[in-house]
Amino acid sequence: MRNLWENTSRERENFSEPLKSQTTDLLIVGGGFTGCSAALEAARQGAKVTLLECENIGFGGSGRNVGLVNAGLWLPPKKIISILGKKHGEKLISALGSAPDLVFSIIEENKIKCDPKRNGTLHCAHSEKGMEYLIERLRQGKLFEEPLTLFDKTETENKVGSSKFIGSLHDSRAGTIQPLAYCRGLARKAKELGANIYEKSRVSQVKKQNGMWQVNVQDIVINSKYLFLAMNAYEDLNKANNKGKFSTVYYSQFATRPLNSNEMSTILPGKEGCWDTAKIMSSFRVDDAGRLILGTMGNSEGFGKYVHTNWANKKLKDLFPFLPEIEFNFRWSGKIAMTKDHIPKIVNFEENALSCFGYSGRGIAPGTLFGKRCAAALLSENLSMLPVSAVRHYKEAFTREKSTFFEMAAVANNSLMSFKM
Ligand SMILES: Cc1cc2nc3c(=O)[nH]c(=O)nc-3n(C[C@H](O)[C@H](O)[C@H](O)COP(=O)(O)OP(=O)(O)OC[C@H]3O[C@@H](n4cnc5c(N)ncnc54)[C@H](O)[C@@H]3O)c2cc1C
Repeated sequence: MRNLWENTSRERENFSEPLKSQTTDLLIVGGGFTGCSAALEAARQGAKVTLLECENIGFGGSGRNVGLVNAGLWLPPKKIISILGKKHGEKLISALGSAPDLVFSIIEENKIKCDPKRNGTLHCAHSEKGMEYLIERLRQGKLFEEPLTLFDKTETENKVGSSKFIGSLHDSRAGTIQPLAYCRGLARKAKELGANIYEKSRVSQVKKQNGMWQVNVQDIVINSKYLFLAMNAYEDLNKANNKGKFSTVYYSQFATRPLNSNEMSTILPGKEGCWDTAKIMSSFRVDDAGRLILGTMGNSEGFGKYVHTNWANKKLKDLFPFLPEIEFNFRWSGKIAMTKDHIPKIVNFEENALSCFGYSGRGIAPGTLFGKRCAAALLSENLSMLPVSAVRHYKEAFTREKSTFFEMAAVANNSLMSFKM
C-alpha cells in the first residue's frame, strides 16, 4: 500500500535536470529536512550550493513521518543536562525549544503548501505510570518556562474524543504539518534562491584532493570546498566509516479514508497531533481532509507486516469504538536513526566537513535547525554556532543486533496488545 503523503502533497517541484560535473562552495548529500534546510540556508546566504539526493526529495524519514512538529527531544530537560552538562544541555534545550518557531516561520515566509496547524500536541498518558511521567515532565518543563498544560481524564477525553487516556500534556509550541510537502517546499525555495538540486543522484564516493572535496556520482565529479552529509537513517554510502554508526528502528503508519462530519464530530476537534506514553509508543492525528492516521513502532513492510496491520485495525476500534468498520487506504513505514543516548550527533570527520544524524524520532524541527546551523557553520568556518558540539567520530557497537531487537520487541508488543484490545 501507499504512503499518504505522496498522494496528498501539494508541493510538486521537479528536480529532474541532468547532473553535470561542477565546482561548488557547499556540497550536500541527502534531500531530507536536514539537507534541504542546509541548502536553503546556504542559498539564502548567496553561496553556491549543490544538493544530491539518490532517490527523490523526501524519500527518507522526511517523507514518511507523522508530521508532529515537536519542541525539544524525547528526553526530558533534566536528562539532557545529565548527558551534556549544564552549559551544553541548556544550549540545546533552548535551541530546540524554539525550533518549531523556525519551522512555522519558514513555512509562512516561503508559502510552503504543507497544511501547517499550530494547535499544539498532546502527549497522552496510557497508564498511571504514564501520568506520573507527564506530571514530572511538566515540573521539569516549568523550570525552563515551557508552555505546557496538564489535562485530566475528562479534559483529555474532550480534546481527543477517546476515553482511553488518564490525562495528557499539551505543548503549545508544537503543531502538525504534511511532512513530505514541507520537505519539498524547502527544496523548492532553495532552488528558487539558486541552489542546484539533483534527484536520482547517488553519491558513491567522497574523498579529499588538494584541499577540495571530490564527490562521485557514477563518472560525474563534483568539487566542493565544504561537504555536508545529511543521510541519517537512509545512509547509502560507505557503512564502514567514521561519519556515524547507530542503530535504526522502524515506525509504521496507517491512514483511513476521510471521515465524514458525523464521524469526526468528537475526534480531535482542536486538531492536535498525539502520541502516548507507552514504551512501544503509538501516535494518532488527522490530516487536512479528515483522515485518521495511526502509527506504531515496527515495520509494516517486513516480517511483522500482519501483526502491525492487525494492531492498527484493533487500535482504531479501541480508541474510537463508535466508528463504523473502516479500512486503511494507506500503509507505509520508515526508518528512524537512534543514538544510544537519544541525542543527535554532528561529526566533524575532517576539516570542512560535517555529518549530522540521530534525531531518534524527532527530526522535523531538529533537522531544520541542525541543517541550517551546519550550513552556516561550514560556510563561516565557525563550529561554535552548532547546537551540539561536533565530535571527531561516532561509532556505536552492536547496531545491527539492536535494530533487530527493536523490531522483535515491536512485533511482540503489537501481538500482545492486539490480543488485549
Ligand atoms: C515513520 C517515521 C515517523 C516519524 N515521525 C516524526 C514526527 O512526527 N516528528 C518528528 O519530528 N520526527 C519524526 N520522525 C523523524 C524524522 O522524520 C527524521 O528524523 C527526519 O526525517 C530526518 O531527516 P534527514 O533529512 O536527516 O534524513 P532523511 O529524511 O532520511 O533524508 C536522508 C536522505 O539521504 C538520501 N541518501 C542516502 N544515501 C545517499 C547517497 N549515497 N547519495 C545521495 N543521497 C543519499 C536518502 O535517499 C534520503 O532521502 C519520524 C521518522 C519516521 C521514519
